[in-house]
Amino acid sequence: MSSENCLFCKIVAGDIPAEIIYESESAIGFRDVNPQAPTHVLIIPREHIATINDLDAGHEVTVGNLYMAAKAIAADEGLADDGYRVVMNCNEAAGQTVFHIHLHLLGGRSLTWPPG
Ligand code: AMP
Repeated sequence: MSSENCLFCKIVAGDIPAEIIYESESAIGFRDVNPQAPTHVLIIPREHIATINDLDAGHEVTVGNLYMAAKAIAADEGLADDGYRVVMNCNEAAGQTVFHIHLHLLGGRSLTWPPG
């Protein structure tokens, strides 16, 4: 299931290049083009799901796998001990600009809280 006009579906399909650093059956991880921290990786399901609001019970494993990917990538990037942030924006007020769900994995610097 992919959406024709979705940027991240095009990355999954290999039609748009990305620096992919993680691949599994259900997810991929690639570096954000506009990084907000020394490590900024986006982790997305291969399946097109527009927002968190579009999740249903059948997506539980898919979403769980995104977090398992985040854990693995954080370890690979050397972030596990110091710490890192994993966040998913939903809709405009939260700053979502690409409507294919994605975890942001951010690390490599101190991150303030609350976020802006
Ligand atoms: P969000 O604002 O939460 O929807 O996050 C979208 C993210 O996708 C932003 O951090 C963008 O910098 C990033 N982004 C947009 N286009 C690309 C691309 N072609 N490759 C990698 N990251 C991208």
